[in-house]
Amino acid sequence: MIDGGEAIRKLALNVARYTGLAPLAKPFIGGIGAILMLHRVTATPEKPDSVNRHLNIAPGFLDAVIADMKASGYAFVSMDEAVERIKAGGKGGEFATITADDAYRDNMTEALPVLEKHGAPITIYVAPGLINGTADLWWDVVEDVVSARDSLTLTRPNGPLTIDCSTPAKKLQANARLHAYLTSEVREEDLQAVLRDLAGSNGVDADGPRLRTLMSWNEIRSIAAHPLVTIGAHTINHSNLKRLSETDARHEIGAVRDMLQAELGEKPSHFAYPYGYASAVGCREVGFVRDAGYTSAVTTRHGVLRAEHAGFLHALPRISVNGRYQSLAHIRTMLSGVTTPLANAGKMVVTI
Ligand SMILES: [Zn+2]
Repeated sequence: MIDGGEAIRKLALNVARYTGLAPLAKPFIGGIGAILMLHRVTATPEKPDSVNRHLNIAPGFLDAVIADMKASGYAFVSMDEAVERIKAGGKGGEFATITADDAYRDNMTEALPVLEKHGAPITIYVAPGLINGTADLWWDVVEDVVSARDSLTLTRPNGPLTIDCSTPAKKLQANARLHAYLTSEVREEDLQAVLRDLAGSNGVDADGPRLRTLMSWNEIRSIAAHPLVTIGAHTINHSNLKRLSETDARHEIGAVRDMLQAELGEKPSHFAYPYGYASAVGCREVGFVRDAGYTSAVTTRHGVLRAEHAGFLHALPRISVNGRYQSLAHIRTMLSGVTTPLANAGKMVVTI
């Protein structure tokens, strides 16, 4: 899950503004390849107007993106091969690898047929806690709570806070307020308990979103056996690692490998930082992931890959295929590399 907020809206505006420039600029600022980031892929989202709709694209759009990229010369490769190509400085031509976070069931039912059609590999990053129920898809639960009520009261140590959810505009504000509350005021360790309290006291089933939309272990085992699929690790409990102690962060990064091996029979060698933005991953976390022995790790920082990333295999940027902007022009512009420095204060090699 990524932040759907201001940064992405600003980037989209920049994309629109620089689209005409992209083809001219590509020879100078284009990278050696790109890691595409997906979450959900479905033609029939349960809530098409969801505040989380940036997390979903239609399978037809995925098909169009892959076809367009192939036509312009991209080879679609596995994450293992992407790492080899980065280490080789991009020799062998432009490449792309597809990733999807959180293990949504529609990755199997709606994305996989498109990937099979193109022979395009995918890495799916799994957080076992989201499958077992020791962590929640809290952003979907929050949306369910806000849409169910006209008003909410949070019980906080410094006094109760009442949030107005009576109109569509107030509901948008309430979602943003609850995101801020859960990701900065509530301790990371208490997130599930506080969320479940909030859901329970407002008549919402906190298990609903993950049971409805994520794969079961049987489904993950079945997709893991597919030749196009690699399973990666996404911590145990989809934790914001920066908000945890060193001991807890190292446990979330290390023990998830054993849990996935126990369920799937194989230790994952690739990792995705939950949230992946600056307030969830920094130098400390990258060091922990390197120490744990992973081959690669991806953030949600925006950028194309460059040869220099051979030295930063545990802080690789991605290009988010964002559900709000399902246009080939946007994707082409982002792949040109023109938005990489724009979204990163002028940096061409984006790490953390
Ligand atoms: Zn995630």
